[in-house]
Amino acid sequence: MKFLPSSSLVTGLAILLPLASAFGWGEPHHAITSAAIGVLPAWQQSLLGTEAEPLAATYCLIPDNVYSDKDNAKFAAMDSQPGEVYIKKLHLPEQQPENLDTFRYFMDKAVDAIKAGKIGDAARYMGTLCHTIEDFGSPSHTLPGDNMFTLLQQFLPPTDAMKDQTMHGPIENGEINVVITGYRPQLLGTTVEEAAWRLLHRVHDEIINARSTTIPIIQALYAEDKEAVVTHQLKAAAFDARVVADAFHTILCIGTQKFEVSEQVPLKNVAIGAFLPLEAVNLYYPQAQFSGSPNWGHARSGVILEGGKKAIPLKLNVEEKSGLIAENFLNGISVVMGRPLTFLLPKGVYHHFTVLAGLHPDLGAKGRVEFTILGDGKALAGAVVNGTDPAHAFDCDISTVTQLQLAANPKGLDPKSDYAIWADPMLTKIETVTGR
Ligand SMILES: [Zn+2]
Repeated sequence: MKFLPSSSLVTGLAILLPLASAFGWGEPHHAITSAAIGVLPAWQQSLLGTEAEPLAATYCLIPDNVYSDKDNAKFAAMDSQPGEVYIKKLHLPEQQPENLDTFRYFMDKAVDAIKAGKIGDAARYMGTLCHTIEDFGSPSHTLPGDNMFTLLQQFLPPTDAMKDQTMHGPIENGEINVVITGYRPQLLGTTVEEAAWRLLHRVHDEIINARSTTIPIIQALYAEDKEAVVTHQLKAAAFDARVVADAFHTILCIGTQKFEVSEQVPLKNVAIGAFLPLEAVNLYYPQAQFSGSPNWGHARSGVILEGGKKAIPLKLNVEEKSGLIAENFLNGISVVMGRPLTFLLPKGVYHHFTVLAGLHPDLGAKGRVEFTILGDGKALAGAVVNGTDPAHAFDCDISTVTQLQLAANPKGLDPKSDYAIWADPMLTKIETVTGR
């Protein structure tokens, strides 16, 4: 690996981008981290200063090198895993609570180090965090419980040349040049609690994006089509780099308490209709989440399945001043009866949860459903809605809630018509915007 003299790094973006292409690209971690640093605002690059170079060159590998790089191993240790040197959950995703715990822990450590003026320590914690983000978004870390693809290879039998090869390495390694020039990193929160939770959901999208690359990469490897391998690897790596850039940007903003007003405005409300609940174990709905009522299916974001087959827009009758209006919703969830959905919330960040609940007016006219909103297991609000009723508008105080649950249960009438919808589920912060 070749490096530019570190003094040239602090001059910012113009110098940092050429640095990226000087890496060997054998290790995608370097390429992804370097691309992320390259899009940070100039003030953040100069704050990192001479630590930017080792962040992309060595710190991003701290969790892999805990046995060889003993000086830095403590930056990939966690208080919750005392004595554990190699922590598996820094490389392979677990379930949402564990992943949130990991992100919160290392963001917190990095922010505290910045506040204490220890940029070197902060950069090392950022190295561990970006390693985890990048590993979760690697095309070879995508299949829960099948990290070596021994099961997947039964579905995709290898060619003679690839037979008996370990697939993990070939799927993720190679010469990749990650470029995200022009990407503007997003602020994920003004506190670690908020930012770690938003990072969790960014990472969910990242993992699902990476999953879409795994099979094309394997097929390209079988076909010995190197170009196609790289094309799909880059699709994953560029997404990872954007998420890492968001995480770095946010840590540096929180650590210095420098926030642009324009960046805080989009944080005020969060539409959660597309967020995956805890029931989507490993980010997909397992068989146990399917239900027969009103149709054979599972909860869906943004659409409802007519007759269990045809996806149509979410629609509810909403009471307006002018009378009852049938309205379509993009942010929302259609649910099946008796399968509550649970969402993790950050502590003390959001104060209100608002949502409209009702039945699809065309499909569910003959149904009747009881909607219940629970916070940490306790009912916060509930309503029984008939298919011909207007949607019920909920507004719950969730200031102290860390698990929000949405439940829908049949209430007699025609169970085949219980086409239940939670529309416009929204979390709202109360704090006023501060900063520059
Ligand atoms: Zn790793």
